[in-house]
Amino acid sequence: YQAKRDRTGVEVYESKRDSNTPDRLGLLGDLRRALDAHEVQLHYQPKVRFDGHVAGLEALVRWVHPERGRVPPDEFIAIAESSGLMPHLTEYVLETALGQVAKWRSEGLFVPVAVNVSPRDVHTPGFAGSVAARLARHGVPAGALQLEITEHVLLEDPQRAADTLAGLTAHGVKMSLDDFGTGYSSLVHLRRLPVSELKIDRSFVARLAVDAEDGEIVRCTVDLAHSLGLLVVAEGVEDDETWERLRDLGCDAVQGWLVAAAMPPEETTAWLRARGSRGWQRPRAALPAAA
Ligand code: C2E
Ligand code: MG
Ligand code: MG
Ligand code: MG
Repeated sequence: YQAKRDRTGVEVYESKRDSNTPDRLGLLGDLRRALDAHEVQLHYQPKVRFDGHVAGLEALVRWVHPERGRVPPDEFIAIAESSGLMPHLTEYVLETALGQVAKWRSEGLFVPVAVNVSPRDVHTPGFAGSVAARLARHGVPAGALQLEITEHVLLEDPQRAADTLAGLTAHGVKMSLDDFGTGYSSLVHLRRLPVSELKIDRSFVARLAVDAEDGEIVRCTVDLAHSLGLLVVAEGVEDDETWERLRDLGCDAVQGWLVAAAMPPEETTAWLRARGSRGWQRPRAALPAAA
């Protein structure tokens, strides 16, 4: 690896990004095999509202390589995208997530699940129809599935992307716009994409409590989203102060380590059951003393 720092001082690993190094090809072959062998897992991270209600879960893919150990999703997703393996990975993720949703429903846990899809998927012919068929096969209503997309879907063929997303929406699948505020964010995209939820990128949320500018960006994003009738979720909420700021700014729901990290399926089941109908409550010690 060659570690570089970007403008914000965050380390960025770049060596495998754009070349077909043997290492990268090796990893691609291993990923293909891992999918066939069902060695790739999904973990689930809750999205909770400020009243504690669990609004849904986000499925996040996890791969533990037999020799290299945990490979970060950002890294192998980039490989899958540039190699043509992405549709296969997405099918795998959708199949696994819907199987889990069906299982939870049969156990009385009616929680919607969000699946991340890449721009590649949205441009795959027949994608909307295949999602609909998969829902039907699992006996899961479309409203129990959400797809998280990014603005990158509009870069290649905006019209086709818009058609696919319209097809999915017509079927009842909800769309969420992930990582909002990074890269290509524009108001035109917001108008063009049939999304019902907007997720504020972690980079703005992380320093919300200490950086006034980030606070203003979040405030404007929340107001903009609400004026367009969208729900706003903040990602990467790690502490109480940030939670309180987001609540005061009118954000609808949060996701982050303060609430829970992504958990394996069994742990997620236990987490959901332990909260029951009360939802998630902040630990007592963290609550401000009653006046
Ligand atoms: P994302 O969809 O924006 O997911 C949020 C990422 O933030 C996840 O990283 C999650 O584990 C992490 N996170 C959540 N809460 C916190 C927090 O409080 N603090 C910090 N520092 N991080 C937090 P992860 O799981 O490594 O996934 C990275 C990205 O990989 C995702 O970003 C998504 O773009 C992509 N990804 C993950 N699973 C899938 C998948 O099944 N399909 C596709 N196409 N992409 C996926
Ligand atoms: Mg996401
Ligand atoms: Mg995100
Ligand atoms: Mg992200």
